[in-house]
Amino acid sequence: MCIFCKIIKQEIPAHVIYEDDLVLAIFDISQVTKGHTLIMPKKHYANIYEADDAVLERMIIVSRQLAGRLKKKFNASGINILNNNEPAAGQTVEHLHFHIIPRYDENDSIICEFRPSGINVGQVAAEWK
Ligand code: 5GP
Ligand code: ZN
Repeated sequence: MCIFCKIIKQEIPAHVIYEDDLVLAIFDISQVTKGHTLIMPKKHYANIYEADDAVLERMIIVSRQLAGRLKKKFNASGINILNNNEPAAGQTVEHLHFHIIPRYDENDSIICEFRPSGINVGQVAAEWK
């Protein structure tokens, strides 16, 4: 059984901040910033590709609610919602989850930077067809 399934079954302790019939939200054990939260489905899906629409809908709606609550409680300046799928994208726990990351200032402990790759958008669009 995966580590998040063990948390859902209360075999491993966690700081739960939200729970309903479909999803559970906990504070990440490794707080990238104050209030760093994980929201996950109670049913095991390895990643976003596998999840039911109803579960994904609930995850994003509750993420928005928690984003607002976290921002207010911890006086954050912004929020990132991040989902990693597969190791190439940084996924380390193979149970679908979104990170909800309160942001404070440019010196906080997370760097989300989009650097131009030089890839031509017209060529990408041609390849997509
Ligand atoms: P990923 O890299 O898969 O997107 O993120 C997995 C996250 O799960 C990491 O940020 C990591 O700190 C968190 N995590 C791993 N094990 C535990 C645990 O046992 N408890 C909690 N609360 N978070 C965990
Ligand atoms: Zn699981």
